Amino acid sequence: MAKEGEVFIVGAGLSGLVLSRILSKRMKVKVIERKNKVGFVKRKIDLVENSGNLDKVLEKLRIKPSCIGRQSVWHSKNEEFRLRLSEIDYFLFERPLLEMQLSEEALDNGCELITNASFVRINDGKVIYHKGGRTFEDKADVIVGADGGDSRTAYFVDPEASRMKYLYAYGATGKFENLRDSAPQLYFNRDLLQSGYVYIASDKLTTICAVSGGDAKLCYQKFINTVRPRGRILNYFQGKGNISGLRRSITRDNILLVGEAAGLIDPCFGFGFKYAIISSYLAGKSILENEDLGHYEEQVKNTIYPSIRRGEFNKRILEKLDNNDLDLILRVARKLQDDCVDFNHSNKEIVMNNKVKLISVFLSNPRLFLLTLKMIESI
Ligand SMILES: Cc1cc2nc3c(=O)[nH]c(=O)nc-3n(C[C@H](O)[C@H](O)[C@H](O)COP(=O)(O)OP(=O)(O)OC[C@H]3O[C@@H](n4cnc5c(N)ncnc54)[C@H](O)[C@@H]3O)c2cc1C
Repeated sequence: MAKEGEVFIVGAGLSGLVLSRILSKRMKVKVIERKNKVGFVKRKIDLVENSGNLDKVLEKLRIKPSCIGRQSVWHSKNEEFRLRLSEIDYFLFERPLLEMQLSEEALDNGCELITNASFVRINDGKVIYHKGGRTFEDKADVIVGADGGDSRTAYFVDPEASRMKYLYAYGATGKFENLRDSAPQLYFNRDLLQSGYVYIASDKLTTICAVSGGDAKLCYQKFINTVRPRGRILNYFQGKGNISGLRRSITRDNILLVGEAAGLIDPCFGFGFKYAIISSYLAGKSILENEDLGHYEEQVKNTIYPSIRRGEFNKRILEKLDNNDLDLILRVARKLQDDCVDFNHSNKEIVMNNKVKLISVFLSNPRLFLLTLKMIESI
């Protein structure tokens, strides 16, 4: 079948690969990647929250997680809460295995993937890039910026945007005999982690990852002194997510941004996996259906932006909580679950149903109550 239209994608990270796989069956797709390989550099288990219809999008895209889970365990300094849902709570994905599978399928469909090639600029609708000391120029019907949090392509969509606020992550992946609970563990202990947190996610391998607005490596080191993982470390990894806020625009002329290049990352937890998948899915649909790119932007603003705004709100609250607050919240959550409260994502009524219980919690802790009021007033 003759291919209709050409797409040029900058970045072979998660977003760029999902999109190239969607488009390459029907369009001519070229992807450039500045590294010498695709995807995440080190082995790692990603913890991916299932919300915003992610389960349905994964199904449509035939992307299989390595694990599907309904339980997670939340730890504060003195409390523990095992959240049990009947719906899917999260997925685990092994990286860069996923990216390797995506790129193989895109290549099978005829996608052209050029590694060690760096985007330079867009000039007169043409993409200029460098490879091996030479400069190349390419024209395409659609140009996609999938070049991550420090996106250069974004400058050609919104030249005013300056972005410099980061969440840092540091961790290790390995096989640890004493950390093999199949439910992900999330730790919030202000003595060790200041404003950040640690998650441990286990599948065949286990990843321990500290996330912080400050020194994530230090958080990781303090944390492992308490859990003392026993076993073999395969690799350490580190990285950062740009959490400078939502972009005013993510499309311009024939250019569109996806994933972290579009500013799509949860500023509280640093999770960006699901936004990379969902935005690439929406972009792919728009491009294939030959829609105005403004339609893609509208969909992202309607479906993803509200969830990131909630993340901004959560971050401001979480940063203010001390160990006593965190202990209290987990105690209350445990009590509510014991009282058969439905915590499932689809239950939008949770706050309303439990108003009386929540009010009694806040009244027993005026500091938490005032803090929440202040936060609500400021948004
Ligand atoms: C250490 C770490 C742990 C994480 N853990 C989780 C997790 O558990 N769960 C979760 O939901 N999210 C997690 N995230 C976030 C998630 O990985 C990202 O949000 C997601 O990968 C974003 O995908 P992306 O394709 O938009 O950007 P990226 O993955 O950043 O990909 C961008 C690609 O573009 C390439 N590129 C950049 N500039 C250029 C250029 N000028 N020319 C050519 N190519 C270029 C880069 O090399 C890269 O390959 C984590 C992030 C880090 C750093």
